[in-house]
Amino acid sequence: MKLRRLSTSAAGFDAALDGLRFATARAAGVEQAVRSIIAEVRRRGDAAVLEYARRFDGAAAACVAELDVTPRLRAALEALAAAERDALCAAHERIRAFHERQVQTSWDYREADGTRLGQRVSALERVGLYVPGGKAAYPSSVLMNAVPAKVAGVRELVMVSPNPHPAVLAAAALAGVDRLLTLGGAHAIAALAYGTASIARVDKIVGPGNEYVAEAKRQVFGDVGIDMLAGPSEILVISDGAASSEWLAMDLFSQAEHDEAAQALLLSPEARHLDAVGAAIERLLPSMARREVITRSLEARGALIQTRDLAEACTLANRIAPEHLELAVADPQAWLPHLTHAGAIFLGRFSSEAIGDYCAGPNHVLPTAGSALFFRARRVRFPEAHQHHRRVAGGRRAAGPPRRDAGRRGRPARARARRAHEIRMKPEDLVRPEILALSAYAVAPAAGMVKLDAMENPYRLPPPLRQELAARLAEVELNRYPEPNPAALRELIMRKMRVPPGMDVLLGNGSDDLIQIITLALARPGAAMMYPSPTFVMYSMNATFCAMRAVPVPLRDDFSFDADAFIARLRAERPALVFLAYPNNPTGVLYPRADVRRVIEAAPGLVVLDEAYHVFAGETFMDELPRFDNLVVLRTVSKLGLAGIRLGYLAGRPQWLAQLNKVRQVYNVNVLTEAVARLVLERLDVLEAQAAEIRDERERLGAALRAIDGVTVFPSRANFFLVRVHDAERTEQGLRRQGVLVRNLHPALANCLRITVGTPDENRILLNALKEAI
Ligand code: PMP
Repeated sequence: MKLRRLSTSAAGFDAALDGLRFATARAAGVEQAVRSIIAEVRRRGDAAVLEYARRFDGAAAACVAELDVTPRLRAALEALAAAERDALCAAHERIRAFHERQVQTSWDYREADGTRLGQRVSALERVGLYVPGGKAAYPSSVLMNAVPAKVAGVRELVMVSPNPHPAVLAAAALAGVDRLLTLGGAHAIAALAYGTASIARVDKIVGPGNEYVAEAKRQVFGDVGIDMLAGPSEILVISDGAASSEWLAMDLFSQAEHDEAAQALLLSPEARHLDAVGAAIERLLPSMARREVITRSLEARGALIQTRDLAEACTLANRIAPEHLELAVADPQAWLPHLTHAGAIFLGRFSSEAIGDYCAGPNHVLPTAGSALFFRARRVRFPEAHQHHRRVAGGRRAAGPPRRDAGRRGRPARARARRAHEIRMKPEDLVRPEILALSAYAVAPAAGMVKLDAMENPYRLPPPLRQELAARLAEVELNRYPEPNPAALRELIMRKMRVPPGMDVLLGNGSDDLIQIITLALARPGAAMMYPSPTFVMYSMNATFCAMRAVPVPLRDDFSFDADAFIARLRAERPALVFLAYPNNPTGVLYPRADVRRVIEAAPGLVVLDEAYHVFAGETFMDELPRFDNLVVLRTVSKLGLAGIRLGYLAGRPQWLAQLNKVRQVYNVNVLTEAVARLVLERLDVLEAQAAEIRDERERLGAALRAIDGVTVFPSRANFFLVRVHDAERTEQGLRRQGVLVRNLHPALANCLRITVGTPDENRILLNALKEAI
């Protein structure tokens, strides 16, 4: 499609623009239909709600109680793929942090004559939240509306949404929605506004909806509060011509795809640039999933508008008062004072509106259809009408405040009263929502199984060494605390593992412990942790534990490393911490050395090179430690054959380790671990010989797996393979029934299994079982 071109200097421009702006007259009949639905719900309550739910929402419920899906919320959150859940949690955290700053406080002060004046802020009791269903799922809409309400202290948040997508349910769980009814349209608004036997009436209704919902909100307003009448979404971009035409095309699409009635406008004084964006739109549109909606929206209401200069573009933008305004110009700050009316303004060529929509933090619920002329963005605005109170000296009340408020300053009396009733303490009330949203790290029971799920070395120590160990352990003084960060063990590790002179090591209870120590020490408020994705889940889990902003950067489809993309994100996000697993888990890929060097050089913070599998890769950056001042190398003895003793070590400059050491649990390496490691690591040659056998076996197993029809094997430099099958769930179950345990990574990695290289016997059992299971 060809997007229409307008020019401010052409005759008839104003009329053409107005035609586009007001092209969404309310469909005839909506007002009357909504009026009768509301009247029916008021008259017949639940019965009417149920009838409309069956007719309009396709509900099959026998009673209104069956529309209540609250008990399913937490399970929906737990069922999300880890990456999706992490992204949702990160968005939630940022939105919450932003809105907490907007919370209004109560205040009062005393005048010279002793009169007290003040404002008391207290939250609404019950708020209804409408979230559209159907065409597209908007978990972000849930967060953007629910979080401010919860931050403000709304006691009960009731959400209605017709046929909510699982991601919407998950977002509702995370945001703390108290009750969710699968209910949509005008009847849902009516039920919230007036209440029925099963649905309690609310004090205020917020959230966007289709034209029936908007009309219903308009009609119930006055009997109940509403936020505003949100129309179709809008974006207006002002470009000086230097931004990428493809990026701008995508920004326009991102708004146009919301809805056929959405509006997307681009203003620029550069005719060539407008041509280029027009061409980019034609080129990219066929590849967009929602191209039909985009086409209809752009055809009905979109335009590329040539202005005389940027100043005129700003004047025009003020007249249009768009919901979203993107300033894609070289010096956006300079133009900001010229812009007086817009719901939200996105500054600069790298500030895509779509990011603001989902996760940046500020609210995306914004005034539409020129109402930015008189409305502003959603704040934390769920207080009751503020009570302005005034107290005359000597205790005589002049107006307003009940006597029990005497002397009170901050907290509403109701909050205190409520606390008195709540005798039952629920973890959900206290535990951080992002922790509630996590699943515990899963370890499958393995008794009697061929255990190929955890990248262990399948070989035990040789019997003579075990005997020697038994004798040594008998001498350990179990009654004494261990030596913190024991020097003899550190020296042994530095010698055996070729830690360069001038470097030191810090010991951990497994490398998991060290990952946590590093994250904890670097997690300044707002700091980011970046890593390629998919990778070892412990990185993102620790980001969550420590409230770091997790920035996963996708690997390519074949799991190779896109160094340019990674470095571009490094520059944009400036993470304090980067984790690179070298080779990577769960893919087995070893990133090119040169790429890793470039990342270390470009990183503005600390890079942790996690070499858990280095013996199988035959590659390490240990020798390059002195070259970089922002590199540490993380290792574990787990994959070498000592997973049971839990010992990891971090090699790096003493300056780094001295700081990290402060965060360490002082006795994180126990006396037994220390004794075993000191004996066995002296005989590192034994473990290295086992590793060499595993490497040979890896080559044989890889070839045999590749020979099985229906199995795709990704190349691996570690002691495991990532494989893709038709149905990972079924294959894994089939293997399990035959006594073989592998790791199922589906759905996070579609139909992928991770299989550890075992002994030749174990691998034979695996291969036979796999042929069967597939
Ligand atoms: N890093 C990576 C890349 C891993 O895959 C693992 C364990 N699977 C670890 C660290 C944790 O190892 P440890 O047993 O030392 O905690």
